[in-house]
Amino acid sequence: MTSEIIADPELDPTATYAVSPSRARHLAARVVASPKAETFTRTSPITGGPLAALPISTATDVRRAVSLARSAQRRWAAMSFDQRKRVFLRFHDLVLEHQVELLDLVQLESGKARAHAFEEVLDVAIASRHYAQEAESYLRPRRRRGAIPVLSQSRELHHPKGVVGIVSPWNYPLSLAITDAIPALMAGNAVVLRPDQQGSLSALAGIELLGEAGLPVGVLQVVLGPGSSTGQAVVDAADYVCFTGSTPTGRKIAAAAAERLVSFSLELGGKNAVYIAADAHLDRAVDGAIRACFSSAGQLCISTERVIVHTDIYDQFVPRFVAAVRTMTVGTALEFGYDMGSLVSQDQLDIVTAHVEDAVKKGAEVLVGGKARPDLGPYCYEPTVLAGVTAAMAVRDEETFGPVTSIYRVSSDDDAIALANDTDYGLNASVWTRDVRRGREIAAKIQTGTVNINEAYAAAWASMAAPMGGMKASGMGRRHGAEGILKYTESQNVTAQHLLPIAPAFGASDQTFAKVMSVSLALMKKAGLS
Ligand code: NAD
Repeated sequence: MTSEIIADPELDPTATYAVSPSRARHLAARVVASPKAETFTRTSPITGGPLAALPISTATDVRRAVSLARSAQRRWAAMSFDQRKRVFLRFHDLVLEHQVELLDLVQLESGKARAHAFEEVLDVAIASRHYAQEAESYLRPRRRRGAIPVLSQSRELHHPKGVVGIVSPWNYPLSLAITDAIPALMAGNAVVLRPDQQGSLSALAGIELLGEAGLPVGVLQVVLGPGSSTGQAVVDAADYVCFTGSTPTGRKIAAAAAERLVSFSLELGGKNAVYIAADAHLDRAVDGAIRACFSSAGQLCISTERVIVHTDIYDQFVPRFVAAVRTMTVGTALEFGYDMGSLVSQDQLDIVTAHVEDAVKKGAEVLVGGKARPDLGPYCYEPTVLAGVTAAMAVRDEETFGPVTSIYRVSSDDDAIALANDTDYGLNASVWTRDVRRGREIAAKIQTGTVNINEAYAAAWASMAAPMGGMKASGMGRRHGAEGILKYTESQNVTAQHLLPIAPAFGASDQTFAKVMSVSLALMKKAGLS
């Protein structure tokens, strides 16, 4: 079943765009851009044809969006948590109710399989429910121990930053545009969002549902256009910057935000590893490794490009894994049932092809896959497994961001940990073992922001109460959990002093004060006070 947004050439012979122009115009009405704005059109990896014409917001439009957001923010921040909560609980339901259209748009823009598009719907619903229910407890004023018990009474408060700028990429066009906005909004901020041009329709459809859920007009502004102009203008004007994308762009965003002394979070690239320990449950590990490597055709920041296998299980695991990959179905239809979809663009296809060709030229063995499949879709590429990968090959250390994984044999858990950590990145990892306790010990030694035990990535990702993000070159800051909302606030310490000052009083000399304080400090230490 597909939605009515799809332009059907059989019903409308003049249809040029994948998305019906009237639906695209309706969605584009939310974009801050002049009526005579230039437009851009992206190609759908599903149809190979144009998606829709959408407006480009100029730097002046972005400044206008920030100013509109700033005036709406004050009223929004004055509303109670309960009022904001109602909006996001309603949004949760609307996202599930409207999932058919959302799935169509995500597929049309990204090319991913419908099951992988559904992960985006899930993510948005889970984030919405979590922060609707928990924001108040994360942000409520808290008593803190003062300098002198009873006399100094501290409260920790959290105020919204103001206008949060969000720049999101194309690979999860719905979820990465919306889920970072949810805690920012629940904390009382306004948001200016610049979704990627290849994901703008999915983001706009999500924003439309937020409006339907009761989000007041003006609180969430959307601007569209190239990252280097429209995206940069958001970074240059927001009170906080939340960026998701590649490490090289993340470094530029960090420099620009540092120059303005605004804080930021960066969710960046990865070169993630799966470790199949000697005692792994074989069938589950094979199944999980496939999810880890090929979800969204490998265009998932937390997907896996390195499968590390203990030598004791290597000869059983690898043939089963390769055989299972060989049976995967690849296709671009707007329906459930395919194991993998397409890459997003010719650029992604070129990177994937170059990495595999480079590896093969330098001696790697293709165990399965290794070819583009234009017969299945313009940018389709087979799920691919390589062996014999060495440090001379780009695929060993660079993020491919495609359906290509390499197999490595190790002879101990320590060697697996060392290999998993032998990368500049530190985003996600997955460990497969029947001994969960040992799995936790291994996980704690892996330098990644999330580690999943006996799951590929979804367990840690969807555990919204716990933080997720990148160590090393994979990012700064975290999304989800307390950190995922506190980052959008300014904390404030308000301390009231009672009865006595922290200074000489009642005519006491400085010397007497020093003596009294020294005794008091010794007593506080003895009492175990912090
Ligand atoms: P990219 O860095 O090229 O672009 C990301 C976004 O930033 C795009 O929308 C782009 O238009 C915009 N942009 C570019 N220059 C900008 C600038 N100067 N100012 C503001 N915005 C600018 O990355 P990409 O190739 O589009 O996305 C894939 C990358 O994103 C991969 O490395 C992937 O691992 C990473 N990613 C990370 C996460 C995560 O949560 N850690 C999630 C998804 C994707």
